[in-house]
Parts: sequence; C-alpha cells; structure tokens
Amino acid sequence: MTRQSLTPADALLIGRLYLHARGGGRYRPFLGIRVWCPYCHDTHQHSWIDPPFKSNTVDHRAAHCHDHVTRKGMKLQSPLREGGGYFIGLDPSAKAENAKVIREFAEAFTRWEEREAMQARRLVTAANN
Ligand SMILES: [Zn+2]
Repeated sequence: MTRQSLTPADALLIGRLYLHARGGGRYRPFLGIRVWCPYCHDTHQHSWIDPPFKSNTVDHRAAHCHDHVTRKGMKLQSPLREGGGYFIGLDPSAKAENAKVIREFAEAFTRWEEREAMQARRLVTAANN
C-alpha cells in the first residue's frame, strides 16, 4: 500500500528507520521504525518491511498506545487503539537518514546470509564425513 491509497479517515504515523541487528550477525537483522504518536506524545516502535519498498509505502499496525488517566482518575483509551490501529510510513524529512539505515540493513542482511550459507555448508560437510 502507498500513502495515495489512504482515505482521510486513516491515521498515518510517520517515522525514522532503525536497524535491529543482534548477536554480532548470528540473528537475522530486521528494520524497525520509530513513529511519533500525536496521542501519546511519545514514539512507538514497530517492525518495518524488508527492502525493496517505495518511499511512500505504508503498512498497517495495531496501535501501541497506552491508556491515559485524567486528573480525576478517568481512564481514557487512545482513539487510535479504538479505531483498530494506524498506518505507519517513512518520514519524508528523514529521507537521507532512512536511506542510510536501509543500506546498513542490506549489508547486515548479506553478512547474515553468508554466515547462514557457510554454516549450512559446514553441516553438509560434517554429514558427509
Ligand atoms: Zn500512541
């Protein structure tokens, strides 16, 4: 989906990508996104999709909003959560930064694939000996 397919009723939160790569290449790296939530006045972290994708790609997520309690102790639920979630997308003002993270992801992903392939070859060699 792209931004152009959203309706005015759809909530869109935009943000910046980050690379999630743990274990020194032992685990499959993935892209995450931190979006600013106007309701919570806080960022929410979500997984983002693997490249390639367009800069105007959007994806739907369940809301990560937290409940708010008023001074009178009334519990308010986020309208974004009541509405079944929101769409997330890339912040156009962070284009260069996001492109850099995508490049880093591609490098980390290639390293991870090479490591996986090497381990598979080792297993095959061990099984044949
Ligand atoms: Zn929120």
